[in-house]
Amino acid sequence: MSTSTPSDQPAASVLVINSGSSSIKYQLVDPDSGQAIASGIVEQIGEGVGSVKHVALGSTTRRELPVPDHAEGLRIVLGLFDEIGPDLEAAHVVAVGHRVVQGGALFDGPVLVDAEVERLIEELAPLAPLHNPANLTGIRVAQALLPDVPHVVVFDTAFFRHLPDAAATYAIDADVAAAHRVRRYGAHGTSHQYVSRQVAELVGRPLEDLNQIVLHLGNGASASAVRGGVAAETSMGLTPLEGLVMGTRSGDIDPAVVFHLHRNAGMSIDEIDDLLNRRSGIKGLSGVNDFRALHDLVEQGDAGARLALDVYLHRLRKYIGAYYAVLGRVDVIAFTAGVGENDDIVRAGVLTGLEGLGIEVDLERNAGRKSQPTVISPDGARVTVMVVPTNEELAIARQALEVVGA
Ligand code: AMP
Repeated sequence: MSTSTPSDQPAASVLVINSGSSSIKYQLVDPDSGQAIASGIVEQIGEGVGSVKHVALGSTTRRELPVPDHAEGLRIVLGLFDEIGPDLEAAHVVAVGHRVVQGGALFDGPVLVDAEVERLIEELAPLAPLHNPANLTGIRVAQALLPDVPHVVVFDTAFFRHLPDAAATYAIDADVAAAHRVRRYGAHGTSHQYVSRQVAELVGRPLEDLNQIVLHLGNGASASAVRGGVAAETSMGLTPLEGLVMGTRSGDIDPAVVFHLHRNAGMSIDEIDDLLNRRSGIKGLSGVNDFRALHDLVEQGDAGARLALDVYLHRLRKYIGAYYAVLGRVDVIAFTAGVGENDDIVRAGVLTGLEGLGIEVDLERNAGRKSQPTVISPDGARVTVMVVPTNEELAIARQALEVVGA
């Protein structure tokens, strides 16, 4: 029998922070149990009236108030921990883990924040102009407010840092590419790594023996081919725009579309950037970007929505075929993130007709949302198809803990 700390006072916890350009998401994680002790989000930073949501101790607190900048946003968050709880001191926060989107070719794992790391995150900002500066602001503000705790950075690109050159290289002038760091970095790496490791535990086989295709299908979406725990391919490239069709992003597109729209439609580069990142994908084709709304429209006979779903599934199926060829043999296909975990229509739709590749779905097992890891292929199938809920915050917390050696 354990006589140790009560459940709301873990032996050690990690505060995970994900700073966006106008938001701060946070979660206080117990890395042992994997539970979120508290979580929340500050939104509309710098936009007149901001909104704050803090979920802790069984209740949700919402506030609307001015949040002029990230420093104030984080001060408000720490104030909510003081006022509502849980008490951060009692929670024994041993590290703050920061998500950073772009680590370029410089980082292949988590690192302790120091002046040089900050400088490099800044240096990589041209590759992620919306994200890295916001991430860095979050790091600096958090360090100022929590100076006694070590801060660790976990890069979204790290898992893909050692993609084979054949997968990471764009076939463009090599000098131009080198001068401007143009190559494929991938994204969602924390999720792909976490899910592929979970899969090995769940199927009870060594990670080194498994060839996997991981499908992270959320509002952003990416696929990866993982051979023996090492990333062999991924669908996102220089930025998270490449690859699968997403909620609002086009994914793969002929680059000449950009020249065409610029030269013949008079659109500026910024307008085309906005078009491809925010007005494309499922939303561009159907008007909605949430899959629940998309399915409603399909049921009502909406032709645009039907086409959007067909384009989405077609692209996804192409990637599965491509990654099958990259890996040569596939043991597991794992679905994760908002759509992957919850949308049985997408899961069944994309795998239908792939029996020739040993890929089958048991429709009864597939039915419904999955909040727990679930095998959805029939017993004895050549490829095990599973749903494995992702948990990027827990993955960041555990990596931060490894770095600080707690
Ligand atoms: P994420 O980016 O991983 O948080 O995923 C968010 C997306 O998951 C939403 O935009 C929806 O499209 C999708 N999603 C969430 N819940 C469901 C559900 N019950 N059924 C289908 N799709 C869902």
